[in-house]
Amino acid sequence: MSEPVLQLRHLSVDYPTRAGVVRGADDINLTVYRGEVLGLVGESGCGKSTTGAAIMRLLRPPGKIAGGEIIFDGQNLMELSAEEMRRLRGARLSMIFQDPLTCLNPLQRVSDHIVETIQTHRPEVSEKDARKQAAELLDRLGIRAERLDDYPHQLSGGMRQRVMIGLALALNVDLIIADEPTTSLDVIVEAQFLDQLRDLQRQFNLTIILITHNIGVVAELADRVAVMYAGKLMELADVRLLFDDPLHPYTRGLLGSVPNINLTDDNLQIMGGSPPDLINPPSGCKFHPRCPRAIERCQVEEPSFKEVRPEHWSACWLYE
Ligand code: SF4
Repeated sequence: MSEPVLQLRHLSVDYPTRAGVVRGADDINLTVYRGEVLGLVGESGCGKSTTGAAIMRLLRPPGKIAGGEIIFDGQNLMELSAEEMRRLRGARLSMIFQDPLTCLNPLQRVSDHIVETIQTHRPEVSEKDARKQAAELLDRLGIRAERLDDYPHQLSGGMRQRVMIGLALALNVDLIIADEPTTSLDVIVEAQFLDQLRDLQRQFNLTIILITHNIGVVAELADRVAVMYAGKLMELADVRLLFDDPLHPYTRGLLGSVPNINLTDDNLQIMGGSPPDLINPPSGCKFHPRCPRAIERCQVEEPSFKEVRPEHWSACWLYE
């Protein structure tokens, strides 16, 4: 493994509501290494986007970090002021969202976005040089230079996502958090985008946390995969290991429910039940009401997340 870029230590996030407190992320311990793509997967509401937003300290109210540390490049982000955090975002940490149209200013040309980003964080760069860098960036991203002065609405969905990546590349950020970056793309554009993202990741040795509910996207891009359920980490392993030999019953359920062209509908395993109410989560293992392998202990005691085989982590009593 290369050097750690990000370490989450006992990170927890709460959403206070009138009905009670929802613990959106619960005691997350995770390390992200330089140059890797870490896939963060799970069903909707499992806490993956909450974890991504917490790292950026961009939780939407009433969400708040309830405890833990976010160590980025040796520094605890929880100790930074709002202004220090604002300077860090964009310069060293970047987030790509599902719909880039919500992030790109519709009244600004592509060139304006990139030039402004460069000059905000590196004021010594002249506008002429920043514009030249913007044109070179677009070229690397496979977008013709004449599109530099297009407005976001004139670009395709895939191009807009590439511009978002370009904004991160313009500043050579240390970590990109991509939250469902392909969900708004059709399957053909998605495949092209994933190909390009993989090339860019290798070319620039990018470190990416890839948040997705799409197991296929993870299989395409990720080096390691962390599986979340009900705000908890359930399994973490190298992508091949996780696909070939999943340990946690929830991971098995997720993988078994992915449609496969080589299998008939009879082979598709539908995971029963639905994610729990996080205001009143189940006792013991949070997955026990849906788990086909639950034992008595699972209802009363919560398993801890631990390394049960070399480089393979799981939270399940079956591997104690
Ligand atoms: Fe299933 Fe028990 Fe393992 Fe939870 S701890 S995943 S309920 S076997």
